[in-house]
Amino acid sequence: MARCGHGMEMRPTRAGRQRMTTYDVEVIKHRQWMQVARGPYLPAFDDLLRNEFLAEAQQQAWQRRALQRMVRYAAAQVPFYAALFARLGLRPVDIDDPQALENLPLLQKHDVLRCTGELRTRQLPSGERVATVTSSSGTTGRPVRVYHSTASARMFSLLSHRHARWFGFDPAGTMVFVCIPAEMPGHAERRIDTRHAVVREDHWRYVGQYFDTGPQYSFSIANPVDQQLTWMAEIRPQYVKGYPSVFEEWLFANAGDVPVAGLQALFGIGAQVTPALRSRLEQSYGIPVQQAYGLNEIGIVAGRCAAGRYHVHTEHCLVEIIAADGRACAPGQTGKVVVTGLRNFAMPLLRYDTGDLAVAVAGPCPCGRTLPAFGEIEGRYRRYAALPAGTKARVNTLVDAIGEIATEHLNFLRRYQIYQDRSNRFELRLVTAAPIPEAFRSGIARAWEAVAGDPAIPLVLREVEAIEPAPSGKLLDFASELHVDASVNPHATTASDRANGRG
Ligand SMILES: [Zn+2]
Repeated sequence: MARCGHGMEMRPTRAGRQRMTTYDVEVIKHRQWMQVARGPYLPAFDDLLRNEFLAEAQQQAWQRRALQRMVRYAAAQVPFYAALFARLGLRPVDIDDPQALENLPLLQKHDVLRCTGELRTRQLPSGERVATVTSSSGTTGRPVRVYHSTASARMFSLLSHRHARWFGFDPAGTMVFVCIPAEMPGHAERRIDTRHAVVREDHWRYVGQYFDTGPQYSFSIANPVDQQLTWMAEIRPQYVKGYPSVFEEWLFANAGDVPVAGLQALFGIGAQVTPALRSRLEQSYGIPVQQAYGLNEIGIVAGRCAAGRYHVHTEHCLVEIIAADGRACAPGQTGKVVVTGLRNFAMPLLRYDTGDLAVAVAGPCPCGRTLPAFGEIEGRYRRYAALPAGTKARVNTLVDAIGEIATEHLNFLRRYQIYQDRSNRFELRLVTAAPIPEAFRSGIARAWEAVAGDPAIPLVLREVEAIEPAPSGKLLDFASELHVDASVNPHATTASDRANGRG
């Protein structure tokens, strides 16, 4: 039978569970979710499941149609694109499939900042209105604001649900969201001081709009780690969503023990999880670390499958991985993540340069999903754009070195930050709970030797009382005094400007 339609049936499997495909498993999980659907039943959730397993030709045809629709719309209704197409002598039909996107220039964050008004639609399609405005930290401290139409905003819920299904989350489970202060429920209304509070909602954010789920508790990363762990022990959640740096701090503070019995999964958002951190967390806790990728300007972009690929939510956007010469990367190559929105008719963004790097992949994914995918996310490149040569290698080397130190030698550590001063000297700042063990000192010294350069750039291990979050509220593993020049270079971003995925 066809893999689609409402009242989806599982295809008969002769050999029972061992022969079940990913599709069969997803159908079972989908049915379990539909039993707790609230309000009017939404065929959109069936469509999402069907799209994940379309044959490749259908998959491509669907993407082509969605892209053509958005390009035609943008050229006709959005002043920025009308002018761009005229300037380049392009017609909408010239951008009729994803390969043709390379005829358009990349759209940078500073373009969006400068041209917010021109990027807004003159007239929304009928039935659509502006539903929400997202805001992300900009290059000069001015936030980048993106207006989202109803259809675009709704994708936060639909795709959050897709992730919950992929990751095998039990709807009845309790979710904890460890967030930056600005993401706390009630923050915008400023009804209560949410900085040092736990806020309970009856359902998981986004998913709870359509399904009966367990409760969600939110607290801010601004609270001391010991307080966070005390709350975790009281709430006893099955799932925790948050920034990977938070999970790493819990690991340090808890000597590698799982923060609370019964925890089923960690869900990392907003920044890369290095392979070293992922395997440390998974091995120490014995639970999976799930990951999604997204950014406020677009929304949820991709979710990571069990085979380690980030599958792109083509119902919402397209992704290109672009080499330095502007061409698509070959499989295995690392390049810029460039996203084209397909849903947001309020403020279309075509070929938006996310500032992130990821590895290109090709060929069918072992998980069986046919949604296009990319590989490991390697963090932000603009972070290093205005900094001395070798900075990125030095920072990555230190992060990896800490990742490779045995857990028993990390018990002293509560938080760390790599700091670069104006003279390109480095400090590894450490918030400690015990003396620094020799194994840590020697491991760091060995790693630094390889990247210190000649003459060697000094690295000092400095114990500090506290490491404050950046103005954005995020915890940074790297801060540089040399980033102050970012304000005069529109292509550079500040250290505080990390990808802020939502999921
Ligand atoms: Zn996959």
